[in-house]
Amino acid sequence: MPGKNCLFCGQNFMGRADKKFCNDHCRSALHNQIKSENHHHFKEVDHVLKRNRKILAALFEQTQKQKKGILTRKIQELGFIFSYHTHILPLENGEEGVFCYDYGYIKTKCGELAIIKQN
Ligand SMILES: [Zn+2]
Repeated sequence: MPGKNCLFCGQNFMGRADKKFCNDHCRSALHNQIKSENHHHFKEVDHVLKRNRKILAALFEQTQKQKKGILTRKIQELGFIFSYHTHILPLENGEEGVFCYDYGYIKTKCGELAIIKQN
């Protein structure tokens, strides 16, 4: 009967048909590796979302004072990544607000973004 290759270390071993690892160490090592890769991905997404929120929060203060919107290009230059957001809320006027936590934006008709804060 031919042996199988361990999913973690690749070593050839003999064992029951359902055995995938040469030993317990390799089995837990692979599980830990997958867990830490997932964790790394979560951290990356969290990081982008928090940076987006920080940019929105700063622009909110600024645009409230100046009473005007912000250009899409401008917010991208600050490092805002549009594909990352936490939720989308329908607003009273029929528009949709795209949020990163408590701060978000609405696309205005003139192609600018109005920064909003969720109450
Ligand atoms: Zn192994």
